[in-house]
Amino acid sequence: MTSRSFIRLLVLPLSFILLAKAAMSEESVHQTIERDGQKLQLHINSQFDPDMQIELQDWVVFIAETLQKVYGRWPRQEWEISISPAPAAGSDPIPWAQVHRGEMDRVEFYTASQVSADELKNAWTGYHELAHLLIPYRGWGDLWFSEGLSSYYQNILMARSGISTEQQMWQNLYAGFLRGRADSRFDGQPLNEVSSALRKKGGFMRVYWSGAWYFLAADVRLRRQSGGKLTLDIALEKLNQCCANQRLSVLEIVNKLDELNQVLLFQSLYQQVRTSTEVPTFETIFASIGITIKDGTVTLQQEGPGARLRQQIISHTTL
Ligand SMILES: [Zn+2]
Repeated sequence: MTSRSFIRLLVLPLSFILLAKAAMSEESVHQTIERDGQKLQLHINSQFDPDMQIELQDWVVFIAETLQKVYGRWPRQEWEISISPAPAAGSDPIPWAQVHRGEMDRVEFYTASQVSADELKNAWTGYHELAHLLIPYRGWGDLWFSEGLSSYYQNILMARSGISTEQQMWQNLYAGFLRGRADSRFDGQPLNEVSSALRKKGGFMRVYWSGAWYFLAADVRLRRQSGGKLTLDIALEKLNQCCANQRLSVLEIVNKLDELNQVLLFQSLYQQVRTSTEVPTFETIFASIGITIKDGTVTLQQEGPGARLRQQIISHTTL
């Protein structure tokens, strides 16, 4: 069974959905990309002209390699990416995408019909969608958790692959937390309620960036309390090893994360964030990892234990 775990836009015009369905039924060019015995099945709609198909393939190979920069491998033995042209032309190179979770995870992209591989590589959407595959989320509630994971990791993956610098990464996270804070319509209501009503009522930035806060807070705490031996990458990799094929709720996921990593962190932080009534304060976390903010610009300290912890998030190393 396939469950839709992510919808990029709140309201899609009916014409778009119909066109998108029509595009899906078109012929596609299929190829298998193999890495260390794992397989990615890539389907590119044959409506794209041959030169564009090469650009798309170049982009997919790049972002798929980026996804290997978390576990050193892909989250599934075999998975799929399908790409179709977006019916409406616009400035966004990837106007729409979604993730289908099932026996075979599939990421479905709709891109502009003419766009270069470089433009696609610079768009955050590709990294965001692939990051959804890092946990065995099945779309059962707590959407904030899944979207927070992707909002955090999209920035890490872009930095680890050299698309953004460390400074740009933290500037982007800072801007995201500010957007979350500015989306204050539902402040006072617990995150869990806002998240459940997201598609009906909105509050996207509050939900996404409260979730991103969860993963930043968890990553920094894990690294600090283990003296750098544990990281969010490692914690999620253990979850993937044990449970990638299981159907788990988010509560089950956080309990597993605590159990597998022998920490008391993921579950308590989960309770704290899902009951939070506004985007939690990020400034104290930033200060603890050597980030100061002046006139809207982040400055990264280069010396000291906090700075070292922060630098390891991008360099993907442990102590
Ligand atoms: Zn998402």
